[in-house]
Formats: sequence, C-alpha cells, structure tokens
Amino acid sequence: MEEGSSSVFSVGDALEIIFEFDETGKISYANPEAEKKLEYENGLCGRSIVDVFPNEFKAVGNAFTTEYSFDEKPKQLVAYRGNLTCFPVEAKIIKSGSTPETYVCMANDMLEKEYLKREIAQVKQEAEHALKVKSEFVANVTHELRTPVNGVLGNVKELLGEEVDSRTMKSLRMIERCCVDMNKIIDNILDFSKLEAGKFTLEPRRFHVREMLDYVKGTHSAKITEKGLQFFMTVSPNVPEYVIGDELRIKQILNNLLSNALKFTSVGKVTLEVLKTAQMDDRTELFFIVIDSGIGIDDADKDKLFQSFSQVDASISRRYGGTGLGLNISKQLVELMGGRIGVESQKGKGSTFSFSVWLGSCEEEKSTEQRMDTINPSRYAPGETASFGQEESESGDAVKQYGTPENREALKKALSKLILCVEMENWEKAEMFMDTIRQLAEGAPQEVGRVILRLKMAVQKENYDRITAGFEELKGFLQAEEVHA
Ligand code: ADP
Repeated sequence: MEEGSSSVFSVGDALEIIFEFDETGKISYANPEAEKKLEYENGLCGRSIVDVFPNEFKAVGNAFTTEYSFDEKPKQLVAYRGNLTCFPVEAKIIKSGSTPETYVCMANDMLEKEYLKREIAQVKQEAEHALKVKSEFVANVTHELRTPVNGVLGNVKELLGEEVDSRTMKSLRMIERCCVDMNKIIDNILDFSKLEAGKFTLEPRRFHVREMLDYVKGTHSAKITEKGLQFFMTVSPNVPEYVIGDELRIKQILNNLLSNALKFTSVGKVTLEVLKTAQMDDRTELFFIVIDSGIGIDDADKDKLFQSFSQVDASISRRYGGTGLGLNISKQLVELMGGRIGVESQKGKGSTFSFSVWLGSCEEEKSTEQRMDTINPSRYAPGETASFGQEESESGDAVKQYGTPENREALKKALSKLILCVEMENWEKAEMFMDTIRQLAEGAPQEVGRVILRLKMAVQKENYDRITAGFEELKGFLQAEEVHA
C-alpha cells in the first residue's frame, strides 16, 4: 500500500488504524495512526498480525490460522500494544484475493470513540445549559428594561394629555418616540433569544390579507410623507382575501423590510408587491417584494446581511441606528413559515428584498374569491395598485435627473429641510438631507458639485456659519439656473 498515492484520499492522513499484512502474517505497511496507537518500539512493519490480535490470530509455522471471517462486517477485537497493554477496537480485515494473498486491516479505537462520544454529549449539555441560562437572563433583563420604559411612556402620555407649552410638548414627543424605539429594540432582543433557544412558536389564525397590508402601509405613512418619498403597493388579483397564518409575524417581517427601505432611501420610491406563487392542497404560497431606490448594498456585504448583529458598516449604524437583528429575525421567521428570504441590490441604485411564506387556505376562500370576482373585482382595481406620496411614478426619474424642474423643486425642498434641521441642531437628520441633496445633484456642473462638497463638510463639522454660507451659495446657483432654463 503506497502512502503517497495520487488519490485525493491519503491513507497516511486517515484517523483510523490501517495496516497491511501478508499470508505469513507479517505487517508490511502501517499508517501513522496505527503506529501512534499501537506503540511498537521499532515500528509495526516486520511485526506479526499475531502480535496485534493474539486472541484472534494464532501462529502456525510460517503462517497463521484464524476464525475471523474476512470481508464481513466490522468486528469487536482486542488490539495489543507493543507494551502488551490492550484496548478494544472495531476492526474490518479484507483479503486482496490476489496471489500471494495480502490483507488490509482497518480499525477504530473504541476507547477513543467512547471518550469522544462522552465529550460531545458533555459539550452539548453544557451548550444547552449555557443557552438556557442566556435566554433566561435575556428574558429577565428585557423584562426589567421594559418595566421602566413603559413607566416613562405612561407618564409621558399622561403629560401629553395636559396643557403644555410647545417646547415641552416637543420634548415630550421626543421622549415618547425614544420609549417606543426602545420597546422595539427590547422586542427584537426577546424574539431573537427565543428563536435562538428554539422556544419560538407561531400563532396561526385566519386573517384578511389586504387589511393586514393596509395596516402595514398605514404604519409607515408618516415616515413616507416626512421623507417626501413615493410609495406603491401592488397586490396581485389572485392573492386570496383570507389565509391562515401568523399575521403578527408577517407584519413584523414586512415592517422590518419597509422600515429599512424607508430608512435607507432619501430620494425616489418604495414599492411593496404581493403575489400568490403556488397552491398545494390547502396551502397557499405568498410572495412579498419590497423594492427601494435607496443607498443599495455592496455584493460583498450581501451575505452578512441575514446574520445576527450584522450591519453593513459602522458609519451606517451610527447614522441610521438599528441593532442589526431585524433581518436575522425576519429570516428565521420566514423559515419557520416554510419560506425563503433574499436580496438583490446595486450600490447607489437601490435594493429589492423578497420573501415567500406558506399559509393555510380558508374553507370559504373559494366562494369569497368568486364573489369578489363578480361583485367587487378588487379593492385596488384595476392594477391593484395603491399608492401615495408626493409625485406620480413617471416623475420619479425626472426628480433624480439634475436640472429638471422636478429635480430643482426636490433640491429646494431638501435644502430648506436641511437648514431647518441645522437650526434645530438635529445633526443626524441634517446629514440625511445632505445625502438627499448630494444624490439629487448628481450630474450637476463642477462648481455646484464643489459647493455641495463644502456644504457636506460643514454639516459634518456642525459648522453653522459655513453651512449658511454654502446654503446661500447653492440657492444662488439654483436660482441662476432657473432663470436660464
Ligand atoms: P437594523 O436594525 O440595524 O436595520 P437589519 O438586520 O434590519 O438591522 O439590517 C441590517 C443592515 O442591513 C442595516 O444596518 C443596513 O446596513 C443593511 N440594510 C438593510 N436593508 C437595507 C436597505 N433596504 N438598503 C440598504 N441597506 C440595507
């Protein structure tokens, strides 16, 4: 048996004891594992099979006899080391069938196997215990956190009901928003730890798909308006009215994808599409697509997205916030519902997140569908598109194209929002509007580009005087261009 054989598998690397002997019982080859385990002082080669398995093989003159039936299933044998101590092995010995006859013995150290089995069981037990302790800890901490947060929230709500001056009102609203955000983070951590510990269960119920979608849309309407984005929702006509599934968790996935889409988009539109992609017996597959025209994601970062605590880069998390848990939770929820989640994206152009879920069909669905067809074709007929936002979709591209009236209008709006944020010293938001301005001014003449760069640096340095100077300069350019247009 050649150790340096050209096959991918090398006997020399095997973790099994392997050796070869001839018809006299003399060992002619032993792999390193055999040498290591059997510990013969001058090596195994030249020793006899009778030395290794004396209970099974007996020497007879220049040969051996044995009751061992070759080429059968592995058998429990006792292997003897060079120092005459022994250990149990599971061995299989095969005959070559050639003349002269050669034999190959392959054996596993059962002591080691047992030891490893016990080790694995112990490590598994320890890991399970650690996970249990961790989940209990997370559950306790999140509970402890939620109590004071809700306490603050309750008091703020009470104060908001009273007559307060506008400055106090603003502060109270801010505290309220922080508490709501904090509760979202707590919920995410709790869900994540439950999913990780395998303690998460879905709660399927019958629900109305379009009502659920309307609710989700409503949740984000304020943000859409605040950012001046367009929003479109398209529901394919074959999507059933009612399905059976965990509505809360589907909403959670959609909310996460939509809030990301809105968070990372400063110009353009966000679209939600829903389709029915399969029907099998009483199960329906729905497919959801969330498309945005935002900052996009690098190819290299796409794989990291669905891992826990993963954000594309630290500056993004500083600016946009978030825990990096949302997509991981969404992925686990989608998989619990028998579906898959994925992303396609181009840096600077936008992202498309999509996921499928399998849901139960409702008994009455068929008749409802027929009724809907004849009486009320669709709530979003004819193309089942519901939209709101500032512009019509055709003008979306015009907004992005520097120099068009739509673009100038959007630039002016973003500039005034920027200056408002600067005055309010809301630097985070100011940077966001600065990004919008930069995107809107792509393709602008060099001098405009230079002013924008100076303005951006001034915003980053929170330099009020330079910002106002840059703002005036840019406004001047825009006005001059408007006159020439
Ligand atoms: P987070 O709570 O931090 O947003 P997520 O798991 O939801 O956590 O998202 C992880 C990261 O994936 C985000 O921080 C961002 O870097 C990236 N990401 C998610 N959605 C988008 C999107 N629509 N456009 C660009 N980047 C995105």
